[in-house]
Amino acid sequence: MARVTVESLRKEYDAGSVVAVDDLDLEIEDGEFVTVVGPSGCGKTTTLRMFSGLEQPTSGRIRIGDEDVTDVHAKDRDVAMVFQNYALYPHKTVFENMAFGLRMSTDLSESEREQRVVETAEMMDIEELLEDKPDELSGGQKQRVALGRAIVREPDLFLFDEPLSNLDAKLRTSMRAEIQRLQNELGITAVYVTHDQHEAMTMGDRIVILDGGKLQQQGKPTDVYENPVNEFVAGFVGSPSMNFLEVAVEPKGDRLRLTGPDGGFEFELSAAYVDSHEEGLQSSRYTLGVRPENVRIADRGAANSITATIDVVEPVGSDNFLHLDLSSEFIARVDSDVDLEPGDRVSLTFDESDVHLFDSETGRNVVSHERNAPPATT
Ligand code: ADP
Ligand code: MG
Repeated sequence: MARVTVESLRKEYDAGSVVAVDDLDLEIEDGEFVTVVGPSGCGKTTTLRMFSGLEQPTSGRIRIGDEDVTDVHAKDRDVAMVFQNYALYPHKTVFENMAFGLRMSTDLSESEREQRVVETAEMMDIEELLEDKPDELSGGQKQRVALGRAIVREPDLFLFDEPLSNLDAKLRTSMRAEIQRLQNELGITAVYVTHDQHEAMTMGDRIVILDGGKLQQQGKPTDVYENPVNEFVAGFVGSPSMNFLEVAVEPKGDRLRLTGPDGGFEFELSAAYVDSHEEGLQSSRYTLGVRPENVRIADRGAANSITATIDVVEPVGSDNFLHLDLSSEFIARVDSDVDLEPGDRVSLTFDESDVHLFDSETGRNVVSHERNAPPATT
């Protein structure tokens, strides 16, 4: 069991022309389950490979527990990694696959090894498969074996690199729950990499978002969802994605008037709102962000509303997603009993407490929603 500390971790390839991981700082608590998420190529695998020792950092330090492992060889780190492609030895049985790592990484006797493998196989519900070879197993069974092989070593740190990507949706859901249960029971610190924001949000105690090798934000899933620090995070987390509208901002008495390019959009921010966010609102152009579930239907032409034509009505069970014909994609999540169809004109509104404003140049969110602000420390 261990806490993991990463300081200014950097990995360059091709003589510095590719910066895969750009000065990453991270602290992972003992026993914590952290998900790392970001688009393809953002540096997730490279980060994990540096944790495991398969890749040498260009600069920076990695500490696992009390030990600085930056220069420690992979086989001497107490780390187990589970991959998307299972990486089982095809000619070894399930038993041998699980026992092999133990032989390499511990000095247990043969009978102790056997006992550990059998116990772990029972815990993973794969004891019936111990004599099988990997090509006799289904995808789900292979992934259980890969997990079992990692667990049997009782590592300090679990690393998962998109381990469920090859499984179908239903199996993925049950394996997610199983991995969480196991990690919780065993109390082993875990770093779980995925490109799937839903997976990251639902599994992690804490979520770490990368883009272009750079840390964008880390925090509890709900905090990140409610207070994304920039437009990238706001758009990446949540499905369907947050809606974005380019707006101009001008003072109107003690209020602020936002005007948008489409549908004669006008939105007034109250004096109270302006007061609490005044410092941030210096420039004149912003991107307004509002989540689909915070948008609702208003009376035609009501104040603080946007009027547009419906392009598509997408039923998703209890709700419908209305896709609107605006210059950028805009989706409203409404009750499925609202009777609307493509071609209808509709006015939509939202509360100012659900409005995010992103600096058009830097993408920075200039609004921090008070209701979600962390409690003041005394
Ligand atoms: P992810 O797992 O998030 O998809 P990776 O960590 O695999 O991203 O890759 C991050 C970046 O580093 C990408 O631009 C990728 O092309 C580059 N990269 C990864 N490995 C190598 C390598 N061995 N040589 C050169 N570039 C690499
Ligand atoms: Mg990867």
